[in-house]
Amino acid sequence: MMKEKKLLSIIVPCYNEEENVGEFYKAVRQLDPFFAERDLDTEILYIDDGSSDRTVDEVRKLRAGDDSVRLVSFSRNFGKEAAIYAGLQKSRGDYIVMMDADLQDPPSLLPEMFGYIDEGYDCAATRRVTRKGEPPIRSFFARRFYALINRFSKTEIVDGARDYRLMTRQMADAVLSLSEYNRFSKGIFSWVGFKTRWVEYENVERLHGETKWSFWSLFIYALDGIAAFTTAPLTMVAFIGLAFCVLAFFMIVFVVVRAAIFGDPTSGWPSLVCIILLVSGVQLLCLGVLGHYLSRAYLEVKRRPIYIVKEED
Ligand code: UDP
Ligand code: MG
Repeated sequence: MMKEKKLLSIIVPCYNEEENVGEFYKAVRQLDPFFAERDLDTEILYIDDGSSDRTVDEVRKLRAGDDSVRLVSFSRNFGKEAAIYAGLQKSRGDYIVMMDADLQDPPSLLPEMFGYIDEGYDCAATRRVTRKGEPPIRSFFARRFYALINRFSKTEIVDGARDYRLMTRQMADAVLSLSEYNRFSKGIFSWVGFKTRWVEYENVERLHGETKWSFWSLFIYALDGIAAFTTAPLTMVAFIGLAFCVLAFFMIVFVVVRAAIFGDPTSGWPSLVCIILLVSGVQLLCLGVLGHYLSRAYLEVKRRPIYIVKEED
């Protein structure tokens, strides 16, 4: 009896990757013997995230020679998280894997990852154990971020985790059921649960071009991740407020008693200024924390689509 053929969907978010899409295709096709041996059909789903270079033309060229290549093109740049979501929605595979177009997620790991799926895992996820080729200050802040978010969030966010994951259709559908606008995939994949096996590898540097992440954009992304997976900062703000109230109570008692006993010479102006500056600084900070959550909530209630497709082929 012939075994039923399964389909593997390879989702590739691309934003200005004209030099990489072809190379990526070649690297995947090198695994053809493995796919054949395992009775797998493949579809390569390039999600063009509003590229302004020739990415779309390059994908069309590939599609002309191989109709397992598919293209979904956004009307503008919506971000990688949106591209992953679109890829999951458009994919038809029994298994789904997400890979970067720049070959930083080596396709050669796929056979090992499939091994774990065969062992009964729902997901094989990758994590880089080195940060070779990354500015040291970026690595430092990345480590701090993971320490911080894991301390407060019940959802585990694994340090060095990539979006390179192979998963079953069941898990992909679970990820799709979280249709939030503010998507922090690293948290979402962990939140849905299922059995995940981690595959570790050394960081690979990108093939052509530059990373799209600046230090600042990573910083904003980190704040979004925190807002998406823990409300601890809101609780902390409340405690800071409480601490200041208690402090103020004792200070009022002290100041009133002192004035009653020693009279009230007009002194203490410098300390007063310091107190006002400190307290108003803390207030603004707390307002900022509140504002951050409020803005995320505002974006969610608008229920805007996560992406808009311009063309699909
Ligand atoms: N990417 C995207 N939309 C964006 C930014 C990036 O689809 O707005 C894609 C990009 O083309 C690449 C992947 O996401 O395939 C990872 O991007 P990048 O290499 O810049 O990030 P890094 O590997 O440095 O984390
Ligand atoms: Mg990259």
